[in-house]
Amino acid sequence: MNINLEVFTDNLRSARKRMAEAARQAGRDAEDIRLLAVTKTLPSSYIDVARAAGLTLFGENRVQEAQSKYQSLVSSGIELHLIGHLQRNKAKIAASLFHCVQSIDKLQTAEALNRYCSELGRKMDILLEFNTSEEDTKFGFVEEKRLEETCEKITKLDHLCVRGLMTIGPFTTDRDRIRRAFARLQKMYQGLQDRYPELSLDTLSMGMSSDFEVAIEEGANLIRLGTVLFGSRHG
Ligand SMILES: *Cc1c(COP(=O)(O)O)cnc(C)c1O
Repeated sequence: MNINLEVFTDNLRSARKRMAEAARQAGRDAEDIRLLAVTKTLPSSYIDVARAAGLTLFGENRVQEAQSKYQSLVSSGIELHLIGHLQRNKAKIAASLFHCVQSIDKLQTAEALNRYCSELGRKMDILLEFNTSEEDTKFGFVEEKRLEETCEKITKLDHLCVRGLMTIGPFTTDRDRIRRAFARLQKMYQGLQDRYPELSLDTLSMGMSSDFEVAIEEGANLIRLGTVLFGSRHG
């Protein structure tokens, strides 16, 4: 498996063009939207190509895979996010590896992460993951009230910094349903901003290859792209 720089650069250019068009549609500035490159299941050569094209923000969904691919890049100017579920027994490695964990959905996980970040004398950004899809196969908070209560408690953990919310949209071709899910998360995000002005929440992570334009129209400022940048992960 490999991808050359020329192909990648073309893919990146067309993704950015689509981002700009969606931003324009929504009356937003495309500069305000960050693009995170998802490299899960892909070999390190793909990371090299994306870096050569100028990308610095990357995401992985499994801690051990991220460790084997990114450990040597920790202080190379890359910003690495965990976008998949974090098990508590991987919190120690996570604390040493990621700039941000986007998938916090339990107080206990946050507490474990906080403890290891404290040992390392570092602060870590986190996002709270909400399940907007109403599919019970996925992780994330399912009740808004629960998310708010947990957020309140996490804000008291000294080594974590809550930056915003993340969701994975519903797996469907029904654009209206996808839009409703993203609009709901945006509303929750605004609610949290109003409620906790002191937190300076600034990150709304939603949108993947199949739905990033809808996400941008609904207010996403961080989108997570794999397939449109690197091609299909399935051969
Ligand atoms: C795999 C993954 C992505 C990227 O998916 P694509 O459809 O390939 O763009 C984004 N977010 C999460 C949480 C993922 O697991």
